[in-house]
Amino acid sequence: CVPKKLKLNPISDVFPLIHFHGGRPYGLLPRQKAKLRFFIYICGNYFDMDLRIGNGYDVHALAEGLPLWLGGVQIESPIGCIAHSDGDVAIHALCDALLGALALGDIGKHFPDTSAEFKGIDSKILLERVMDLIGKDGWRLVNADITIAMQRPKLAPYIIPMRECLASVMGCSVGQVSVKATTTEKLGFVGRSEGCEVYAVVLLERVDETYD
Ligand code: MG
Repeated sequence: CVPKKLKLNPISDVFPLIHFHGGRPYGLLPRQKAKLRFFIYICGNYFDMDLRIGNGYDVHALAEGLPLWLGGVQIESPIGCIAHSDGDVAIHALCDALLGALALGDIGKHFPDTSAEFKGIDSKILLERVMDLIGKDGWRLVNADITIAMQRPKLAPYIIPMRECLASVMGCSVGQVSVKATTTEKLGFVGRSEGCEVYAVVLLERVDETYD
């Protein structure tokens, strides 16, 4: 990671290795003090990056005979999500995390499930639109971490395809997108295969400072 901008306000930041007394240069700092100040100077600029974190959560009920889409990938399964869209609960949680990071509301506000426009819509289109909003606001994704809780079917064979698919939709590398799957040890509505539950966390960084 490279510091995005250097903040050169206090005189000791401009000359971090010189000791100042009463605003006048006094001599070089002792080695240990100079090392410490230089370290703080580097960290200060590094942490000056503008970052936002967002989290998203979504649940869909499951029923026999419906297609199951997760992370943009169709999963071979006897059960699928009941939904107005294609029911990709992982993408929905991810969209909410992205929107949440910038306080832009939630997926229901942008794509209401009462609208005919979004009936049966491919959730990848919704994710693309959310990424457009974020890009227009001057932000980009640092990383995303998604946890899918589902009792069955086993999702392990689909983890890499989901990461690849989400990365291609979001225009980032596969390494920036984590997808994890867990069961709930047959506990609760997830454990009874009545529903699928997804948590998502994202980090965004500002790339264009001309926007608020
Ligand atoms: Mg949903």
